[in-house]
Amino acid sequence: MVDTLIRGGTVVTESDTFEADIGITGERIVTVGDETEMSEAETVVDATDKLVLPGVVDPHVHIDDMFSFDTYESASKAAALGGTTTFIDFAWEAWVGETSLWDEPGTILEGIERKRDKAEKPVVDFGLHGAITREDESVFEEIEAVIEAGVPTFKLFTAYEFGLRNGFMDRTFRELADHDAIAVLHSEDADLLDYLADRFQAEGKGDPEWYPRSRPDYAEAMAAEDAVRMAMEAGCRYYGIHTTCRKSAEVLAQYREAFGEEMVRAETCTHYTTLDDSIFEEMGLLPMIAPPIRKPADNDAMFEHLARGTLDVVSTDHCGYTKESKQVDNWWDSKFGANALQTSLPVFHDEAINERDYSYPFLVRTMCTNPARVFGLSEKGTLEPGTDADVLVFDPEATYTITAEDNASVADFSIYEGREVTGRVEKTFVRGELVADDGEIVGEPGHGRFVERDLPDWEF
Ligand SMILES: [Zn+2]
Repeated sequence: MVDTLIRGGTVVTESDTFEADIGITGERIVTVGDETEMSEAETVVDATDKLVLPGVVDPHVHIDDMFSFDTYESASKAAALGGTTTFIDFAWEAWVGETSLWDEPGTILEGIERKRDKAEKPVVDFGLHGAITREDESVFEEIEAVIEAGVPTFKLFTAYEFGLRNGFMDRTFRELADHDAIAVLHSEDADLLDYLADRFQAEGKGDPEWYPRSRPDYAEAMAAEDAVRMAMEAGCRYYGIHTTCRKSAEVLAQYREAFGEEMVRAETCTHYTTLDDSIFEEMGLLPMIAPPIRKPADNDAMFEHLARGTLDVVSTDHCGYTKESKQVDNWWDSKFGANALQTSLPVFHDEAINERDYSYPFLVRTMCTNPARVFGLSEKGTLEPGTDADVLVFDPEATYTITAEDNASVADFSIYEGREVTGRVEKTFVRGELVADDGEIVGEPGHGRFVERDLPDWEF
């Protein structure tokens, strides 16, 4: 007797596609196999003609801070509707500045506590990255405790007012390497970006199409080269977050070849695989994301490098901003970022499978299995018996049009507005509980919980 039997569907794993039933008891998957192996079930879900996938693991989202108006409840509802069963947000070291929320500096441990307090009512599970925002050596004293709190990955920025200069960055890689922790890098050359932004402002070039020109692809590649080189010198494991373009991916590919995938891993985001900079003309500042959406040739490059393995993961960089906060007169006064938790899987599925003919295991690898492994979520991203029953029933034939009217996020727009996609999330289970069903949230807010992550093993 199992609690739930998902019967008659096509199961997809990172390497295979096969007909099987899935039995869930309590929070775990207990069997994957032929229905005859299973006794009765309390609940039977008919998955005939449907796919059964592991829940999506999104390792890059922003919730309830200066980069998102979403609460844990609103963002996690968007996640559940879109098939994401675990996401990783950020625990910020408080800094004082124009874009900060704080009057005085603070620690990452305080950042973890703050986010865990805010996460009162998530519907899906979540983890946190630490974010080092100040050139203050006292942060090195808390690294051990942060890792013990289940946060073994640390985001570093090369740009913005909370960016680190190369000297402190180099030191930080050495300290992280001592703990076998992972550096997660936002890389764009700050000098170049600041110069271009100042120049465009002086010249009054505030229209949306000037925005991507203020943050060129080579600025991303330059900073990636500096950062990954320093990380390898220090022996620190490196994760290139939101890779957008061929130039940057080529830098990472070179270091990955030289130092191995146990040292260098990377992601791109859904929008960098399927949107290009013609969108600025169409949608103004709504798709203003940093780094910017690039050229069609960069979309192709993202797929090439996902297939080659330079890029392991597809994430969202979800930011829950409203139209009002985005559509201002000049791009430099706008918020950077856009919501995508609810649309990421349907959009990437449609692009990768229907448009570009990639396989279902490719989809599961890049959105479920790889992000779980890269970030030390051993119970997630897989349908292996014994792991968390984070499971999706997905209809690959259902066609619908994306509109922000369906948004569960506080964000009232979508960068995919009007896009017709084939493939729809029908049911989302998080640890055995049905949380989203046919476009409705049916799970209890608060079902989701904080997942303490282990130090990831990158030998896979
Ligand atoms: Zn981000």
